[in-house]
Amino acid sequence: MKKYNFNAGPSILPKEVIENTAKQILDFNGSGLSLMEISHRAKDFQPVMDESVALIKELLDIPNGYSVIFLGGGASLQFMQIPANFLVKKAAYLNTGTWAKKAMKEAKFFGEVIEVASSADANYTFVPKDYTVPADADYFHITTNNTIYGTEIRKELDSPVPLIADMSSDIMSRPVDVSKYNAIYAGAQKNMAMAGVTCIIVKDEVLGKVQRNLPTMIDYRTHIDKGSMFNTPPVVPIYSLLETMRWVKAQGGVKEMDRRAHERADILYNEIDRNKLFHGTVNEEDRSLMNICFVMNDEYKELEKTFFDFATERGMIGIKGHRSVGGFRASCYNAQTVEGVQALVTAMKDFEAKY
Ligand SMILES: *Cc1c(COP(=O)(O)O)cnc(C)c1O
Repeated sequence: MKKYNFNAGPSILPKEVIENTAKQILDFNGSGLSLMEISHRAKDFQPVMDESVALIKELLDIPNGYSVIFLGGGASLQFMQIPANFLVKKAAYLNTGTWAKKAMKEAKFFGEVIEVASSADANYTFVPKDYTVPADADYFHITTNNTIYGTEIRKELDSPVPLIADMSSDIMSRPVDVSKYNAIYAGAQKNMAMAGVTCIIVKDEVLGKVQRNLPTMIDYRTHIDKGSMFNTPPVVPIYSLLETMRWVKAQGGVKEMDRRAHERADILYNEIDRNKLFHGTVNEEDRSLMNICFVMNDEYKELEKTFFDFATERGMIGIKGHRSVGGFRASCYNAQTVEGVQALVTAMKDFEAKY
């Protein structure tokens, strides 16, 4: 039976990305060696790095004066590495969910953290809009897509200070005005690659302003100066990232990814709103196009497990909601297909007809 992958992360990747990466794992560029066993300093690997950086710059239309680097440690390491490099005195944070809260916790090790607004009291069912960012903050940190709660900020916010964004779960799903950001970071395992690499876009001129001593590995300049090869980079994940960026470009770039995201999300949200068994969990205007959360209406609550099994039997994988929301979460990243979303919608309709 065909499987439809709605996993929240690591998550669905285009089939050709997986196939092409698998080929290189067996025989890298006809060298007779696996991608897993070559040196990252091998002359064949440098072009993988170069093309990956060039494609990210091209796809996101990154202006001059920014560097793109690849590191390990996930987005979670960036929660501390961002403030280590950018927080001089104080930084503003928008608390929109679990990941934002974790980012704030780490930033407090480095200076004053102003929580400009929070939707924690409403279980993060909306993105706060009424707040003031202090004009003397070093940056304003946002989480553009709240993977767990299913809310998203899909346009650039107005801010008196430069933005820094955790875009782990919606990078490459829409055009971004990178010039508004001092940094953008993303654990690659949602929309860019297999797990194991983190992509960071850094505005060069903002580096070196903090007075603290930075350990070598924590200083972004170390990695910029060495082209992400100060130490051994995650070679296979970076290769899978390259293949994904080639795929995004061939499909029509981030504009097309944006169009598809709207198309998929419209189909699924329309069904959630129509179907008498379900309702969405967040404010309509803040609905994420990437992670679509829904629960069963109170009078049908006891059918949740039954629906989960029903959908699983029809090939739906990974639709169980995060424990802090419950119900269901269908993650619809770039590689998600309309066919997959329609299969889920059909399951919802058929289940409704049964009850
Ligand atoms: C998944 C996720 C993270 C955590 O990423 P790791 O790479 O596992 O550290 C952080 N932020 C957001 C928005 C995420 O979706």
